[in-house]
Amino acid sequence: MPRNMLSLKRTGAAAEMAKSVVIDHYEPEAVMRGLLDGEGFRNRVAGACIYTCPRCGHRIRFRWRSFYRADGRSPMARQLRRILDDFTPELPADEQGVVDFHCPTCQAPTRIIFSILDYKKIAYHFDIYAVLVGEGNPQK
Ligand SMILES: [Zn+2]
Repeated sequence: MPRNMLSLKRTGAAAEMAKSVVIDHYEPEAVMRGLLDGEGFRNRVAGACIYTCPRCGHRIRFRWRSFYRADGRSPMARQLRRILDDFTPELPADEQGVVDFHCPTCQAPTRIIFSILDYKKIAYHFDIYAVLVGEGNPQK
């Protein structure tokens, strides 16, 4: 079980499709390997890191460039994206980024939230803040 788990259930006509949508909140260290901790920072992307889907165990390798190139485009349906947004801290766009994707194996909608630290445009650092994961399809 993730240390910090919360679920959201929505009802109502406008959110009929999103009814019983479960979004779990994972600390980065629960689902990612290869992040660095140091003085004044935690869960920093350095080189590459491995994300393991908590629903099915599928592993995805992310590189520093994956976060550098993240442009906020999302493959999620608008309604699902809004639900994910509800769980995402609202920070200025140049201080925070997200990577949205569906797990290639179980299709669980997934959002990696990270903070962007820009040291005078010379070096960018990406510190993973949290990972939000919706429900995946049951595996056979
Ligand atoms: Zn999965």
